[in-house]
Amino acid sequence: MRSVFFPRLVNGPFGDPALYVHLAHRGEALLFDCGDLHSLAPREILRLQSIFISHAHIDHLCGFDLLLRHFLYRDRPLRLCGPPGLIDRLEHKLAGYTWNLVEGYPLELVVAEWGEPQGRQALFRAARGFRREEETAISFPQGAMLATPDFRVRAVSLEHGDIPSLAYALEETLHVAIHKDALAAFGYRPGPWLTRFKELVRRPASSEQPVRVPLVGGGEACRPLGELVATIAHLERGMKIVYVTDASPSEENAEKIVALAADAHLLAIEATFADQDLDRARTRNHLTARLAGELARRAGAARLLVFHHSPRYQDQPQRLGEEALQAFQATGEPGGG
Ligand SMILES: [Zn+2]
Ligand SMILES: [Zn+2]
Repeated sequence: MRSVFFPRLVNGPFGDPALYVHLAHRGEALLFDCGDLHSLAPREILRLQSIFISHAHIDHLCGFDLLLRHFLYRDRPLRLCGPPGLIDRLEHKLAGYTWNLVEGYPLELVVAEWGEPQGRQALFRAARGFRREEETAISFPQGAMLATPDFRVRAVSLEHGDIPSLAYALEETLHVAIHKDALAAFGYRPGPWLTRFKELVRRPASSEQPVRVPLVGGGEACRPLGELVATIAHLERGMKIVYVTDASPSEENAEKIVALAADAHLLAIEATFADQDLDRARTRNHLTARLAGELARRAGAARLLVFHHSPRYQDQPQRLGEEALQAFQATGEPGGG
């Protein structure tokens, strides 16, 4: 399957958590957690459309100021999603600056906080000095904190000591693969029209809907959507990336993680401590590398990416990655512990 999501850890496995996911062909990106963002280029930051925060520990949220600094002159709204209390916390962060000369600035921050069965949403506009406005209750159908025709982001609340930490699944609605050979055979010229074509398939639009197709020899043809689907495309299950961090090593969390990450193409998951330090992992409310690998295996994930390594393993930089991979690739039933 050709990737539509291009994920990368902004700060590597030992740095602050932040998973940057570029959305192919869209010039947009999503961010899961907002630790230190200085290694992102300004143009990468400005591609961000929505930010998903697991919880408000400082290593997961300290990049907010840099984000705001770059977005201040933008006329595109920025959406931030996170656990209960996020509206208060961002309001306080915003109140930490002086905003007397921003009346003409168009930036709008939309902040949504998780709640079951209902969460809350509030608006902060630069033009109003980032005062809290339009706070309303909001529901998240099927747990989706963001839903577009092309993808959605579902949240699940995990326990991280005595606070919640949200885990997220980014799911493409439907994967539309294009047969390059068929394009060539029909003389259709590849280009941006294919992105629009895929959007129509996912809506889904009527199969009679005409689509303008540029031709290799110049000019264009008009074909019904259904005919194009049958001749140049095939449909498969959408891509799925799951982000899990800062979860206590409990069986209750494990079951939620396995359900959220079922058949994911990639599970990005914290591996903070080594199995040898499981007691410490329990008191600090983090997963071990071995647990991370076992969860990926139980979920049937295709790939595993581990991060949030404790600095105590810095002199053995491969250790946690290897431990997680070993548990991920082990045969037989996942062990206890
Ligand atoms: Zn953390
Ligand atoms: Zn934490």
